[in-house]
Amino acid sequence: MPKPVVTRFAPSPTGYLHIGSARTALFSWAYARHNGGKFLLRIEDTDRERSTEPAVQAIYDGLTWLGLEWDGEPTLQFARAARHAEIANELLRRGEAYYCYCSQDELAQMREEARAAGKPPRYNGMWRDRDPSEAPKGVAPVIRVKAPQTGEIVVNDHVQGKVVFKAENLDDFIILRSDGTPTYMLAVVVDDHDMDVTHIIRGDDHLTNAARQIVIYNGMGWDVPEMAHIPLIHGPDGAKLSKRHGALGVGAYRQLGYLPEAMINYLARLGWSHGDDELFSVQQMIDWFSLEGLNKGAARFDFVKLENVNGHYIRESKPEYLYEVMVDTAKEIGRDVDHAGLLANKATVLSSLPELQPRAKTVLELIDLAQFIYAVRPITVESAAAEQLTADARAMLGGAKAVLEALPDWSVTAIDAAMREFAEQKGLKLGKVAQPLRAALTGRTISPGIFEVMVLIGKPESLARIGDQASA
Ligand code: GLU
Repeated sequence: MPKPVVTRFAPSPTGYLHIGSARTALFSWAYARHNGGKFLLRIEDTDRERSTEPAVQAIYDGLTWLGLEWDGEPTLQFARAARHAEIANELLRRGEAYYCYCSQDELAQMREEARAAGKPPRYNGMWRDRDPSEAPKGVAPVIRVKAPQTGEIVVNDHVQGKVVFKAENLDDFIILRSDGTPTYMLAVVVDDHDMDVTHIIRGDDHLTNAARQIVIYNGMGWDVPEMAHIPLIHGPDGAKLSKRHGALGVGAYRQLGYLPEAMINYLARLGWSHGDDELFSVQQMIDWFSLEGLNKGAARFDFVKLENVNGHYIRESKPEYLYEVMVDTAKEIGRDVDHAGLLANKATVLSSLPELQPRAKTVLELIDLAQFIYAVRPITVESAAAEQLTADARAMLGGAKAVLEALPDWSVTAIDAAMREFAEQKGLKLGKVAQPLRAALTGRTISPGIFEVMVLIGKPESLARIGDQASA
């Protein structure tokens, strides 16, 4: 029987949860879900100087927001240091590792010699075969693993294929420091083993580490998990992803008004494909996900594409759901007034959403587009809109108001008919009536259909806003 699939996401909590890491988590999660396996979370907090509690929280929050639930409790790597040391000592007992007493000076000299010989700086195995009785007094040793000195180490990778590392390029690296703390290389292997991880999916910046880690697996006689090293995300110009390109934390995308379903869909396509499918649900991704679908070429992050995907999900979402997201987003970005307005005008916002959804690419745009609903009189008129409110236009608004006031039926059809007739009587094009109305009612030059706006905010509010701008 094949072992049940176990994947893991192993972020270091040293900064925000970067979208590249979120994508790694997504692939690991999707693979586990596709196979009915487990997706585990391990916080690699061994770098005590750089690991922070807010960064740990950002990982939990980011994954939760994206809907990438992990199974069981997260593993905290630092708490397992004793177990890591135990394995270092076990490797020592097995003759697969040894104490090294080199001083900093000796190591510096080694590096210098290697450089002079045109070789990569590496440990020369000085203590590999030396008798421990030669150990200098009072020096706390490190433990180094015995890497093979000849032959090859092969990483059979699901994305990169067969990657061969020459043994001569790998040195006997440290697994336990002189203060008894494990190195990253050891901790990862011991944890992956103890957590029964069957598939490691991570960035290809870890490919060389994979070769080193295999040395430890072999030393312990443990099975090496399947591996898939995915190409990193690049900017649209092919350069390393920078902040300008979108290398932001997951939380930032939430604040910018992206929906988690859009992020999942977009990130999935960034390095994975299923035929020509661009838009798919989370369930479809789970159904379709395979390691074979992971792309070998670097993915390019494209903000415009992400926006379009987001626009799609905004159009597809139910107003009730979007309303909740709008409130949460407004709260999160500290828009108190808007937030209060959103709450007080819930019914109007809900009925306006079908009008607004096709016009917005982000939730922030949606909040902004809806501002005409909760704007407080006298509403602020933006300068471009104010240009529409000439003396003639203000006089015209007075007439329009009188016609509207007299309307027995406050519906889009009735308002539309009345305003057309009014424009005709005045010898004006409909736009000459509609644009000043828009300026008076929304303070903007762009809004949903202006007659729709009137119905949405209701007759009394519409007349009052028009009255605010009409000349007496
Ligand atoms: N903690 C490592 C990182 O954040 C990942 C380790 C791994 O996936 O093996 O880059």
